[in-house]
Amino acid sequence: MSRRYNFCAGPAALPEPVLTRAASEMLDWQGRGLSVMEMSHRSAEYVSIHDAAEADFRQLLNISNDYAVLFLQGGASSQFSAVPLNLLGEASSADYVNTGQWSKKAIAEARRYGEVNVVASAEADNFASIPSFADWQIDPDAAYLHYTPNETIGGVEFDWTPRVDVPLAVDMSSTILSRPIDVSQYGLIYAGAQKNIGPAGLTIVVVRRDLLGRARPETPAMLNYKTADDNGSMYNTPPTFAVYLAGLVFQWLKEQGGLEAIEVVNRRKAEKLYGYIDDSDFYANPVVVHDRSLMNIPFTLADPELDKLFLAEAEAAGLLNLKGHRSVGGMRASIYNAVSEDAVDALIGFMDGFRTRQG
Ligand SMILES: *Cc1c(COP(=O)(O)O)cnc(C)c1O
Repeated sequence: MSRRYNFCAGPAALPEPVLTRAASEMLDWQGRGLSVMEMSHRSAEYVSIHDAAEADFRQLLNISNDYAVLFLQGGASSQFSAVPLNLLGEASSADYVNTGQWSKKAIAEARRYGEVNVVASAEADNFASIPSFADWQIDPDAAYLHYTPNETIGGVEFDWTPRVDVPLAVDMSSTILSRPIDVSQYGLIYAGAQKNIGPAGLTIVVVRRDLLGRARPETPAMLNYKTADDNGSMYNTPPTFAVYLAGLVFQWLKEQGGLEAIEVVNRRKAEKLYGYIDDSDFYANPVVVHDRSLMNIPFTLADPELDKLFLAEAEAAGLLNLKGHRSVGGMRASIYNAVSEDAVDALIGFMDGFRTRQG
């Protein structure tokens, strides 16, 4: 067996010890004679897996009992609808910040349900920076303010949290668990699992309890946070195997020392890669230094004609999934928690060799 270094933006790399453990338990979970995939979601065995995953997730992010943690399906994209359906309530509008492709999708979906005010946009800047907070046109009567703390495609990340009087609703799909956050600053956090949590199929929502119960009457039961909470995330069959895998990832994160410890590693990885890119005149990253993502690092080659060759040689060298998103081109290295520092070192070594070979 030879596992290669995987820089995929999502579904992304998983920690090898998690996969090894899941493999060892695949046919027979803890002597019960069946796999987790084959268990009733109402069984004591599965409920213990589910509860442990939630408890570990709460511990990692230090989530208080003022918040419900929901294990849902449908990806972050379903939350683009669920957020307005659940939070707009009687209010006439919501505020959104446009920092890239995922913000735009959230905005387009919210517009189906109410008035959306785009309070700031980086589109004119080609999404290479985050609009300065002083310029945001915030509406104090908005139902909530939505933004995307890490734009997975453009590679821009907030290293600050806006201070506003309305609840913050945030799409943390590609940054959650990469470093500690103060959950109490947010009304609602959502994330698809396939970046930094576990396999695709699970979507986690963390919602302040006072925001539950204001969903519009036409909200589908499957998108209603209160329904999910009232049923312990088992209104219907939850994505049991994905929850189990996510639970193993949470245990692995705790063994790494939790989010404070993983942040140190994540910062070191990102600094190395950005440092190498900035020092070279062959590679470039377009994002303003202060707004650069710790998790997703897009970069271009001096000559885009070389992109194909770069990707082919990278793959031959055991470095997978470096192609940039189809909307922006170039390259992108996603360096989530499960992507080791060794993987980043190998990438930089390869990039340097490639540059040298081009003369
Ligand atoms: C990947 C991603 C999404 C889309 O997630 P799905 O689970 O495919 O719906 C949305 N927002 C962000 C920030 C993402 O990184």
